[in-house]
Amino acid sequence: MMARLSPCFLIHYHEISLKAGHRPMFLRHLRQNLERATADLQPVKVVQFSGRLMLDLEGNPNPEAVRERVSHVCGIANFALAQRAASTLDAIKAAVGRMIEGREFGSFRITARWAFKTYPLTSVEINRALGTFVLERVKTRVDLEHPALTIHVEVLPNETFIYFDREPGPGGLPVGSSGTVVSLLSGGIDSPVAAWRMMKRGCRVEFVHFHSVPYLPPTSQQKARALVDRLTERQFFSRLYLVPFGEIQREVVLAVPPPARVVVYRRLMVRIAEALARATGAHALVTGESLGQVASQTLPNLARIDEAAMLPILRPLIGMDKDEITGQAKTLGTFETSIEPDQDCCTLFVPKHPATRMAVEEIQKLEERLNVEALVTQGKEGAVLETFEFPPGAGPFPAPRRGRLSTTEEGSLSQ
Ligand code: ATP
Ligand code: MG
Repeated sequence: MMARLSPCFLIHYHEISLKAGHRPMFLRHLRQNLERATADLQPVKVVQFSGRLMLDLEGNPNPEAVRERVSHVCGIANFALAQRAASTLDAIKAAVGRMIEGREFGSFRITARWAFKTYPLTSVEINRALGTFVLERVKTRVDLEHPALTIHVEVLPNETFIYFDREPGPGGLPVGSSGTVVSLLSGGIDSPVAAWRMMKRGCRVEFVHFHSVPYLPPTSQQKARALVDRLTERQFFSRLYLVPFGEIQREVVLAVPPPARVVVYRRLMVRIAEALARATGAHALVTGESLGQVASQTLPNLARIDEAAMLPILRPLIGMDKDEITGQAKTLGTFETSIEPDQDCCTLFVPKHPATRMAVEEIQKLEERLNVEALVTQGKEGAVLETFEFPPGAGPFPAPRRGRLSTTEEGSLSQ
């Protein structure tokens, strides 16, 4: 009996399944994202059925490349390269037989699950029947506690999936299911990690980077581009606003004494980012701040920064240590870019000893010396938009609706 193997990726999500009312919306995003992630690796067919998604790999020349892409799609709890068989004991045995051919394993167990009640065999019977089948073919033994190989069998009414190893996905929620945020992206280690953590919570992230060209070389912009390029692998399409900030900083330097400058810069950045966020329909701002990590990141200073914006400022790294953040940057693949030498716009004109407890009245008085509104307009209008796509050449995502512009398109500045 020779079964023809029919490979697929079987995809499990868990958080999504908890959100009963919103499930169709979450699944629509997850499906769309999987289709986009594999757009250049055809054929891949995304199929949805009870509690799972499947990527049909029939005829696909490169499942390994598909695997890599799937492993980055937010919202996936875990996934497995599985073989498909009809839901009869004979068909399942035939497929298991093919899968263990030539494989050596000192011990094994069968873990059968079935997703419907009417199946004629119980999972105990499947476990027994398949266990015996394996023992007849391979010199091995059953070990329920610490098996060298676990043979997972998931029985659905029309089809059964068989696989050995499950790989973890990123978890979280599918990008696009929680709305849009605007992330303040420096060239440093923290802000790309912060952006990614919001993607993992289902946000589509737009980026704003403040640079000081021509006062400083364009290195920071190149780093920002490289970081956005990397992060776009996880959300498939990104917008990056490059905001000239050198002129604005000069104004601040003329009017504000050194210790107060960092908070004043940050408040201006937040206001400009908010103006861009409003134009693109985003609901919140994101920074890479972590409490106490640097002298300027104290509770009073964070409060002063919050007061400059109406939109909520999300700080996903607020309670994390530098070590934890660095670890995540390495996993994400942004670390190497972030540590490239660079003169951040904030290293220009930055005081040695920034104030750690700026009071509301103090900061307001200093800002009276500036034309804040004009500076914000200057920043917003000077912003240059660049777009990034993944896979390369795949175009905007989600695809703009025909006939009318989507909210994001309407607000984009340089269109
Ligand atoms: P990072 O590692 O993200 O640069 P940091 O530890 O250097 O953060 P700060 O320099 O105080 O901390 O910056 C705090 C946050 O302000 C950054 O995480 C980022 O969100 C934002 N930010 C700072 N500089 C810029 C910039 N040039 N462009 C955009 N956002 C910036
Ligand atoms: Mg920094």
